[in-house]
Amino acid sequence: MSDYYDDDEHGDSIYANDLTSELLNVQELLKSKSLEELLKEDRDNIKEKEKEKQWYHGRIARDVAEEILKKGLLKHGHLDGLFLVRESSFSSSSFVLSLYSKGIFFHFQINEVKSAHFSIDQGPTVHGLDRLIQNYQEQAQGLPTHLTQFCKCKPPPDEQRYSGFTNLLHRAVLENIPDVVKQILDSKYCPSVNAKSEWGMTALHDACYYGFEDIADLLIRHGANVNCFDKDGQTPLHRCCTGNKAGIISILIQEGNANVNERNPKSGWIPIHQAAFKGYLDCIKILLDYHSPYLPRADDDTTPLDLAENYEHSDCVTEIDQFEQPKVITHKYDWFHPEIDRPGAQKLLELKGLREGLFLVRGSKKNLDWYVLTLCHDQKVFNYEIKTKNYRDRHMFFIDDGPFYKSLEHLIQYYSYHANGLPCALTVSVNTTRELVQISKDDEYFNLVDTSNRYPTNVSPALPPRPESLDMTYTESASGPVSNNAHQHAPPMPPSPTPPMSSPPPPPNHPPPISKQQSITKQPEVSLRQIERKLLSLGKEIGQGEFGSVVKGVYKKKGTGRGKTEKTDVAIKLFHKTAINNQEDFLKEARTMQQLEHPCIVNFIGIAESENHELMLVEEYISMGSMLDYLIDHRDNIRKVDLYLWAAQIALGMMYLEKMKMVHRDLAARNILLQSKEKAKISDFGLSRAVGSNSDYYKATTGGRWPIKWYAPECVNYGHFSHASDVWSFGVTLWEMFSYGEPPYGDMKGIEVIKYIEEGKRLEQPDKCPKVAYAQMLKCWNKEPRERPTFQALNAHFEGENEYSCTRDIMRTLRN
Ligand code: AMP
Repeated sequence: MSDYYDDDEHGDSIYANDLTSELLNVQELLKSKSLEELLKEDRDNIKEKEKEKQWYHGRIARDVAEEILKKGLLKHGHLDGLFLVRESSFSSSSFVLSLYSKGIFFHFQINEVKSAHFSIDQGPTVHGLDRLIQNYQEQAQGLPTHLTQFCKCKPPPDEQRYSGFTNLLHRAVLENIPDVVKQILDSKYCPSVNAKSEWGMTALHDACYYGFEDIADLLIRHGANVNCFDKDGQTPLHRCCTGNKAGIISILIQEGNANVNERNPKSGWIPIHQAAFKGYLDCIKILLDYHSPYLPRADDDTTPLDLAENYEHSDCVTEIDQFEQPKVITHKYDWFHPEIDRPGAQKLLELKGLREGLFLVRGSKKNLDWYVLTLCHDQKVFNYEIKTKNYRDRHMFFIDDGPFYKSLEHLIQYYSYHANGLPCALTVSVNTTRELVQISKDDEYFNLVDTSNRYPTNVSPALPPRPESLDMTYTESASGPVSNNAHQHAPPMPPSPTPPMSSPPPPPNHPPPISKQQSITKQPEVSLRQIERKLLSLGKEIGQGEFGSVVKGVYKKKGTGRGKTEKTDVAIKLFHKTAINNQEDFLKEARTMQQLEHPCIVNFIGIAESENHELMLVEEYISMGSMLDYLIDHRDNIRKVDLYLWAAQIALGMMYLEKMKMVHRDLAARNILLQSKEKAKISDFGLSRAVGSNSDYYKATTGGRWPIKWYAPECVNYGHFSHASDVWSFGVTLWEMFSYGEPPYGDMKGIEVIKYIEEGKRLEQPDKCPKVAYAQMLKCWNKEPRERPTFQALNAHFEGENEYSCTRDIMRTLRN
């Protein structure tokens, strides 16, 4: 199922009005002023508009940042939330937010999660440093305060931004006047060639989309970044494929060495995905000529072949399906060592001098069908699993999220041309007789070696924190006290490659011990209710959750009388040791639940920590378990009256969530639990989020695993989650109920469902579903969020059906 679907990536909506904009008339302006005058005016204009973003101070050390903040405090009268952003002194393109709050200077590392996508601590991942800061100006989201004033310096670097201001260069490009573009590029007043327009595009993106070849050529020669991402996560190559401009593809690759493997950070699509989605055969052909992989995999595993098929571009399907992979010119006997193990491989590569790109392939111990690539980079040895999988009845080989290849040899050949996710391309192998073999390359291919340097993420145990973590502490300001819990906000380190064997042993594969102050109360404003471990006894497993198993248990809490204890049945969600990256999500779920108290919502009891530092989330035990299982197992014993009652209760619980300004984002039959036949409760708050006070929707910035089939179109297309999108999911939940646990949309894939909904089609009326109930579902699935019913109306409907007056009695007791 597709987790993420980006409807904007075809870019047409962004471009719809561009050429008609009054801003664009450069030709006209040049009649009355010289280009130089216009450029100066433009520069001053943009400078004025950028005033709000001049919080960036470049590379300055921490103590310098604090000095600047101190001066700012004198000026602004010790204003809480005074901040600046700087480049980390330990690595370029990594940033730090320096912030003053309540007498303390904080320094938060800003992690680049993926290209130009940033996050602070465990907060949301946001595209662009500019939008990240804007978000924290609106809401604190886990920081000690929201950002208020800043110490002024300059706006953030172009390539790290989401959008900017449309300048004269953008305008001349959009008007397709190469002469003027050239003059601008040659002028000393030329704006940065990689500046982004208000639509989040660089001049090169625009030239590529419209197919202005001369201009693209000029821009590349003036240093335009050919691999930079626009607002939709597209590179100029992606944009060519969006606009069907096959001619520019070769210019980008030949003149600019553009990377045919660059992934859209939002979807994982590389340019050929884009071309297949749009059905542009010429683009596909030329990309394949330039050795684009023909079966790359997106974040949700979708290949261009899947896209071409789903969108019915039969000529593209044939082209990709019948594509002949280039003949292999590398041989297994040059690099394959069936007998060798990990330490042996390490030793052999060390013996051969750990040359950059030196490698061998060995069998995997984990799975007899798999292999391991052992590779040298930077004098260290890294190991990558080569997995196999059946795809359309073909046995395919792949590394991490890399492309499918039909043989091990094809895969090795591919990675000798493109690093694409590995730390470096493969250059030379060692064979079983311990000779070095230069990997053969055909000349035509040779110039296209990809220098990209991204690492696979799922083969990597966490490395110890890098020195940047020094930036995570805070110190006393001139006027404030020193706090002793300085590490409260230490963020996780970004993924790193498998550590070399010679490096210190990796940290244990479980969350670090959580001091109660440190992790459980990570967000200072919400401290979690804690339970002593010894008061809990654990029983049998009752389910499997996202983070690990859910077990039944008993909580012995202190009773009212002296020395008395009361025993309560509880459900305990265990946070699995290996789910190290999800600890914050787990705690987020606990924090959300703790704020809620309602008879139609599962009650949170507390959080505990096991002897070996595993986390446990303790909640009330709901004896009949998941409503979905109940619907499937007891369909003959469930009456309409039961379904109406549960529907009314779910709507009532959702009314309460709405009052608490919370969107659930995962309302589905599987997440409703039954206490009894008369009592349904909403559970699983793992995806729930607070909606901001100024807005009635939550904007998701990270993909994650999304239940697409339960999501309204605005969630899928724009990441907008609101009470109205919860209403859509409620409609799907109703459909599951009235079809007694059938899976919605059968075995359709997520992407097919999106298309189905876009075409105006909806789930059909289940066999035994009353017309009135189906009418409610259809209302919930109105394309227009504002037209959908409210939970209040839905509650009233299901409660108010005359023949079911018992519902009303039960509901009355719930309200009291
Ligand atoms: P979850 O992690 O919330 O998706 O839970 C996984 C499964 O564990 C559910 O489908 C239920 O079968 C069971 N479960 C979760 N929470 C409870 C609870 N409070 N009481 C009883 N069973 C539960």
